[in-house]
Amino acid sequence: MGFISNSDHGIDAGLMVVMLIKFFYGSFYGIFLDDPGLRVCIVIGSFLIQIKPSFLDLALMLYKAPPALYLGVHMARCVFCEIARGSESSWKVYEDQEIMVFLDRYPISYGHILVAPKQHYEDVVRTPPHLVSRAFVVARAFGNASMRYIGATGFRIVTNTGSSAGQIIFHFHVHVIPRYSHGDSGPIEPRAEISDDIAERVVDLYRKAAQDPEVVGMIRGER
Ligand SMILES: [Zn+2]
Repeated sequence: MGFISNSDHGIDAGLMVVMLIKFFYGSFYGIFLDDPGLRVCIVIGSFLIQIKPSFLDLALMLYKAPPALYLGVHMARCVFCEIARGSESSWKVYEDQEIMVFLDRYPISYGHILVAPKQHYEDVVRTPPHLVSRAFVVARAFGNASMRYIGATGFRIVTNTGSSAGQIIFHFHVHVIPRYSHGDSGPIEPRAEISDDIAERVVDLYRKAAQDPEVVGMIRGER
């Protein structure tokens, strides 16, 4: 009596993934479980096909197993999902139901912030259009805020897509990078970890900006 014959679901999504991986990778088998923000990947060497119970029973057993059984298994966590949930600390500037804005921990310039949907989507291509729009509309509002409240003389809005384009966190986000006439990055060392006092100052300024009726209207997409 194996898990296949006992299964309520018959051949389900997990098994289909295993079969696909078998097809594409040959000597390795894997199970991927995608929860929002939590990617669990189990890769098992092909030698397991030799042992009893049969590999497919084992695969289904692992697929249905509670998370505690995944100890020791490679788990890639998403830091932006953890920020959205509040389980990872961040210098948050603004948030609503869909969008969050927080400081880049390793800013390129003074006032460098990130705008991201709270929901997990890997990159701009995989994000639903209305959230892409909202992220850029909110980025535009905070770019304006950087000129009016942080002292920037210009700003860049950019999203990196794919590791070859410099994407490091695979949760869609838009950078707002203020620029300054007295040098590109303002009064910080680019890409050094932000200090607490600079972060507190920048958060205060952006939060003040987020009360400004003009910025509020831009965040809402009304102006
Ligand atoms: Zn995420």
